[in-house]
Parts: sequence; structure tokens; C-alpha cells
Amino acid sequence: MKVYFLGTGTSQGIPVIGSTHPVCQSTDLKDKRLRVSIWISWDDYSYVIDCGPDFRQQMLISNCQKVDGILFTHEHADHTAGLDDIRPFNFKMGAMPIYAHERVIDNLKYRFNYIFETENRYPGAPSVVVNEVLDNTPLQLGNMKVQPISVMHGDLQVYGYRFGKFAYLTDVKTIVQEEIEKLKDLDVLVVNALREEPHHSHFNLDEALQFIELVKPKKAYLTHVSHMLGFHEEIQKRLPKNVFLAYDNLEITI
Ligand SMILES: [Zn+2]
Repeated sequence: MKVYFLGTGTSQGIPVIGSTHPVCQSTDLKDKRLRVSIWISWDDYSYVIDCGPDFRQQMLISNCQKVDGILFTHEHADHTAGLDDIRPFNFKMGAMPIYAHERVIDNLKYRFNYIFETENRYPGAPSVVVNEVLDNTPLQLGNMKVQPISVMHGDLQVYGYRFGKFAYLTDVKTIVQEEIEKLKDLDVLVVNALREEPHHSHFNLDEALQFIELVKPKKAYLTHVSHMLGFHEEIQKRLPKNVFLAYDNLEITI
């Protein structure tokens, strides 16, 4: 299984428009972060988690030729705003399967009403096949059973996903014990770490590291990073030896 980090930044991306912050002005490519998303592939299967405003650019940079489905974590714009750009895949492969909580689907129907229109559709409008994600109900994606993990982003429920020995969690602030149980025995855990300062709806760096200690994956990667966390190179030096700061276009094999 391959995981390609399409984006590892928080909602504004790095650099932030107009910012003079040193991390935003860094020339290190590892300090350039598009909005958070991964591309996961195994055998002939290829899925993307989230479809933010940088989706088009991410598909071009990674040279992704095929997407069998998009799994959504939640409805916030940094995770969904690129949905119109699935059209090239529609023209090549037909309607795009999407997987999300019912609440997220309702939100997408409101914000992208033309995509879900059943009568008088604009020719060439994006098309999707809706699949609802439910708690404690694995999804069958190709030959893989994928376990949704329900976490809390402040007051908002968000899904993470476990694919075999790999799990991807973003926008987590709290997680109940019952869901932590689903993260046993992982080779790789990806989890969000926004910055050093606490935040009402995201793990900060300390909380992410404590969570990794609790879950005990063989390796962990941090994502959904703000420029306020600091320079990639400096932060990486301070992390435990099995924890890595993810960066855009990093590809790992599990
Ligand atoms: Zn987010």
C-alpha cells in the first residue's frame, strides 16, 4: 500500500496569503504546505481522502491518473472545496463514488447543489455516487475493508479511516476510548498537530505526541500543520525517533 501526502497544511495553507511570517517566507520546499489530503493506493485501487481547494493542483503534481473514490473526513472547506474539480475523472471514469457521514453529504448538497441536481443538470457538471459512512460499519473499498474511526473536532464529529495497518486521522481534538481501541497494532498512524499553542478544535504538538504514545503505532506522521508550528527542519529534530513531520509530496509504503 502506498500513501502519498497531497497536502499537509492547515486551512489557509503555507505560505499564508500576504504573510511575512518567516515560515511563510521559507525557501525550504518542506515548508510549503497545500491543504490536507492523502492519496492511498494498493493493487489496482486508488482513493483520495478529502478534496480541498488545492485538489486540482494536487492531482497534477502527484500525476494521479485514476481515483476510485473520495472519502471525506468532514465538511469544512479546507477538506471539501475542490469537489468541482473531479470533472476530468468523471469524463474518464464516470460518476465519482464519494464516502461521507450523512451530515457531510447534506452539507455538500447544500453547497454544491448543481452536482446533486437530478433534473435539468448542466451538461458536464460533476457527478457523484453517494455512499454514507456509518459508525462501526467498515466500508468495502475494492478488496479492502476500511474501518471508519469517529473522532471529535471540537463539537464536530469527524471520520478518520483505517486501512489494514495504516490509519489516517485529521482535525482531531478528542477521541473516546471505544474508537481508540480500533487503532491497535498499527504500522503507521497519521495524525494532526497544528502548532505548539493549544487550540479549541485541533491537537497541538504535545497532544498529538501524547496520543501517539497512547496508540503506539510503529511509526507516526504529523499533518494539518500551521506555519505557527515552525520550520520543518527544526521541528523534525525535536520529535521522538518514530515520529515524523509529514510534508507535501512525501510518499510512504506500508
Ligand atoms: Zn481542517
